[in-house]
Amino acid sequence: MLGLPLRRKKDDFRQAFTEFSKSLTLIIDLEQLKDNVISKIRECIRVDSIQIFLLNPDLNRFELAETRGLDIIKRSSLYFSSDEPLVRWFTINETHLLISEKPAVFSYFNEHEQGILSELKVTLISPLMVMNRITGLVCIGSKSDDSDYSPEEIELLDTLLGQASFAFENAFLYHQQKTRLKKMYRADRLATAGQLAAGAAHEIRNPLTSIRSTIQYLQKDFRDDNKRVLLDSLIEEVDRINEIIEGLLSFSKPSTPQTENVNLDYLLEQTLSLVATTAKKRNITVGYNFNAPEKTVNADTSQLKQVFLNIIMNALQAMDEGGFLSISVDLKKTNSFSGTPRESFYIMFRDTGVGIPPEHIEHIFDPFFTTKKDGTGLGLSISYGIIQQHGGEIEIESRTMSDYPKNHGTTVSIMLPIFKTAHNHHHTAGKKDGAEDTRG
Ligand code: ADP
Ligand code: MG
Repeated sequence: MLGLPLRRKKDDFRQAFTEFSKSLTLIIDLEQLKDNVISKIRECIRVDSIQIFLLNPDLNRFELAETRGLDIIKRSSLYFSSDEPLVRWFTINETHLLISEKPAVFSYFNEHEQGILSELKVTLISPLMVMNRITGLVCIGSKSDDSDYSPEEIELLDTLLGQASFAFENAFLYHQQKTRLKKMYRADRLATAGQLAAGAAHEIRNPLTSIRSTIQYLQKDFRDDNKRVLLDSLIEEVDRINEIIEGLLSFSKPSTPQTENVNLDYLLEQTLSLVATTAKKRNITVGYNFNAPEKTVNADTSQLKQVFLNIIMNALQAMDEGGFLSISVDLKKTNSFSGTPRESFYIMFRDTGVGIPPEHIEHIFDPFFTTKKDGTGLGLSISYGIIQQHGGEIEIESRTMSDYPKNHGTTVSIMLPIFKTAHNHHHTAGKKDGAEDTRG
């Protein structure tokens, strides 16, 4: 009686699985891959919910990357750190975990991990592994009919996710390569734009100086108030042009940073206090979390402040109808090109503003790119130059209202090495430039 339906089920599994493995390795788009894996699991086994956590190598933790079947509100707190019990267990055991079978393992996990598993109603966890490295975790809820998972189902799932692991790795490497190429292209474009801008700025500065002094000279001859006011406003305009040019020059050739030991926490607090009134006026709540165990960074205080101020002001300006700006600082370990581990601060500014449409995102670092009535379009390009000079990286991710009606906003992340090490080729190249800087 029972034999037949079971066998048919098995055949269905096998067929679904063969098709799946064939298609999988061809998918390099991460979104599509996550989608595919989830629907395949659901095709084979009727389950209530599935969550995929993927490794974020920057923060060394597994973050929620895709979810089905649950309404998730506090997404940002859903992660498993690599050096905590849950991931450690999977690294050692290299196999799935059926929680009902091993309650002792569940109690070995820490409170944060147990909380997540309970909140997501997870009954089965399967690791995504490449070689013996864990790259992701797939958390699965109960079966829709509340029955237990059969050994066949679990075996199928293991095989399925074994294939998926390689596909994820593939997609990840592809994505990494693409990002790298994009960055190279951007750096090149900015260098060219910078040279052009510097040339133009020099040309403009001299005639501007003579315009300004001529106006000042003429002012003496006008006692008539109306005409004096006109000349005053001319001077103001000239000063504004001058400011833009100063900005341009500092962007194209940021002065070599005057580095000192800076308390990053203090610097951010200070910057935040500068904008507190503006934020309040705009009905924006600012959250600030300093999570790094270390506070000191070797950097140029005023340049960093300029970067933070730029980014925070952009965020505030993106939120016309109130919202949230959350700023967090973490410390992460990375490997430099030569493989030497180094430590960097990872500073994130997340706003709930209008976001940046995809067609703009490639241009926001370009000098003069602005969508604001009286913007200069120099803030981000200057920031980019400064962070580069510090051996760091700056990145922006954004979703607009039309993409994601609920989850829109912009995230700016800055990676800032505690010390600029000699392995950094910007530094080695910078020595020559530095010598020139003092001359010109
Ligand atoms: P400006 O602020 O003078 O326009 P920036 O270089 O600082 O120049 O920014 C360039 C453009 O990038 C802005 O005009 C805006 O369109 C976009 N932008 C930057 N930050 C954000 C943000 N947090 N939210 C939405 N758009 C942003
Ligand atoms: Mg700006």
